[in-house]
Amino acid sequence: MRACLAVPEGHTIHRLARDLAGDLAGSPVRASSPQGRFAAGAALIDDRVLERTDAHGKHLFLEHEGDLVVHIHLGLYGTFRRLPQPMPAPIGALRLRLESERIGWDLRGATACELLTPAGKALIVARLGPDPIRRDADPERAWAALRRRRSSIGQALMDQAVLAGIGNVYRAEVLFAHGIHPLVPTRDIDRPLWDAMWAWLVAALRRGVKERRIVTVDPKEVGKPRSRLSVAESRYVYRREHCLRCGTPVCRFDLAGRWAYACERCQPPYRVV
Ligand SMILES: [Zn+2]
Repeated sequence: MRACLAVPEGHTIHRLARDLAGDLAGSPVRASSPQGRFAAGAALIDDRVLERTDAHGKHLFLEHEGDLVVHIHLGLYGTFRRLPQPMPAPIGALRLRLESERIGWDLRGATACELLTPAGKALIVARLGPDPIRRDADPERAWAALRRRRSSIGQALMDQAVLAGIGNVYRAEVLFAHGIHPLVPTRDIDRPLWDAMWAWLVAALRRGVKERRIVTVDPKEVGKPRSRLSVAESRYVYRREHCLRCGTPVCRFDLAGRWAYACERCQPPYRVV
């Protein structure tokens, strides 16, 4: 059970893609793999121009000249950190270090860090559902995939082939926002409700990219300005003991290996939506 750690959600990966592009794109980038696990890949991209970065759900792509695409998935333990030059001497399991004259980025602990062709990238993206942060996302594909699922809506929302980029926080909060219990069968979600959930996710994830954190509450309900909300005050049910709206103890349970959260007063379990 992944009780304490959280996989970064899509907004974090899109933020990384933008920050990496802002620091490194358009010029040759020095690349190395001090740990050695990505030594061959790093040698191939070393001193090549980073042309662009891209994110699709929780997958990050760094596109270097010569059709060389670094595919990164942070998974549960991965971090990608920005450091000013001069960079400290590499220590520990440093998978990939990217450097310009001014700035460097260190990647550690990622589930995936591999070098692909553009066709390899396309194969990964083809397996993923639409990503609500992307302007080219097609909500029809998500709806069609959802129709084929026989699981609960709580499970379907985390299925990256239905929607890309949704993690545990956004799942808990989008369901709360619409009064839906995570165990409601997917077949009970009708089209207008799904359209409302999709619109909520688009707005919330894009806001997450901009603000670099997840705030799903209406600050008026807390009585503080948005900028002053603590992490606990920023969500209605996720990792909370009591529902922020009504004070009912939040119900937490294992749903396919991940914690699910619900306020069973605001999200009645047996109501057909
Ligand atoms: Zn409640």
